[in-house]
Amino acid sequence: MALDVWISTTPHGFGPAGIAWVPGTSPAGYCITRVWRSETIDTFADWQIQRSCCREQGEALRGMTLPAERHPLADQPALAFLVECLAAAVCHSTNWDRLRAHMLRRADDSGTFTPGRLAYLTLEGFVREFGAAFSPDVTDLARRHDLFTEVAHAFDGPARSLDVESLIARPQPLAGPAGLYGMLDKIPAFRADPQRKKARVFVQQLLRFEILRPLDPDELRPAIEHHLLRLYLRTGRVIREGGRLDAGPEAEGDLDSLTALRAAVEQAMHYTATAAGLTVGAVNEIEWQIARSYCDRDRPRCTGPARPDKPVADVIADAHAGTCPFAATCPGRHDSTLARLREPQLASQHAFY
Ligand code: SF4
Repeated sequence: MALDVWISTTPHGFGPAGIAWVPGTSPAGYCITRVWRSETIDTFADWQIQRSCCREQGEALRGMTLPAERHPLADQPALAFLVECLAAAVCHSTNWDRLRAHMLRRADDSGTFTPGRLAYLTLEGFVREFGAAFSPDVTDLARRHDLFTEVAHAFDGPARSLDVESLIARPQPLAGPAGLYGMLDKIPAFRADPQRKKARVFVQQLLRFEILRPLDPDELRPAIEHHLLRLYLRTGRVIREGGRLDAGPEAEGDLDSLTALRAAVEQAMHYTATAAGLTVGAVNEIEWQIARSYCDRDRPRCTGPARPDKPVADVIADAHAGTCPFAATCPGRHDSTLARLREPQLASQHAFY
């Protein structure tokens, strides 16, 4: 039996000077594959950030610049704005690609994708037109119908809270009393969760496709969705207090802990962006692609290739010869316990995670 070793240099690492035995390569020796340099500084409830890991993963992203993407409805930016807003509002615990593709098809084909009609869609009409947008295991279509019509109302009539024509006509602030985040906060569907995940996803989509021109791009709040939670846990940038790997990421029902985890990941993303020499918005986009395509929930593809059904930008795929860009620095690549970590599941109780 040979030995690979994990060492924690502080009590907050993965066990005090922890040693893990695995079948190895040399019957004679011990091989230290990695030293866990744990200099935890930031604590968010029961989650902590490993800054050294942020630095390592950030350096792996250096020089990556994603090209601008053209929206399928780029010629109709007001319609593109509406589609992205509605898709973000009803997206929790379902397949984002399927949902968004269905919305885009409805908007492109029907000619009836207007706020004035969608705001008054009955539940039966919603299920008929949009039921196929959701995974078969989705059981809360009535709740999603409420979210959908509520957001459509925000675009409708003289008292609308989202004047889309004005928003896309000229550069807009994201932050502050007149900013887009503040406008979205007036809509219950977007302010329900403590971290405003849906609002952040929506704004990220607007900027990804250049539908909105922000006056203050530095105010972009990263969209910390479930793929990114998983990625930050597996790369060791965020860990459970005391290094526990057991119940945490699969546990259900602890909203406070999940909210703290999202805050920790957001802070860790800032450290990562600093090390990468990129904006937080750019790292948010790059890591979202890495997380959903390489760091698959069921089977991480550390040595590549990226999932063909969820392709990544060429600059990501080419950066490290087709492997996951973190393959050389990620502790999860060599630790099956880390690589099996999954993001928390709370959607059965909340309409936002
Ligand atoms: S190296 Fe493997 S475990 Fe680590 S981020 Fe990449 S795919 Fe995930």
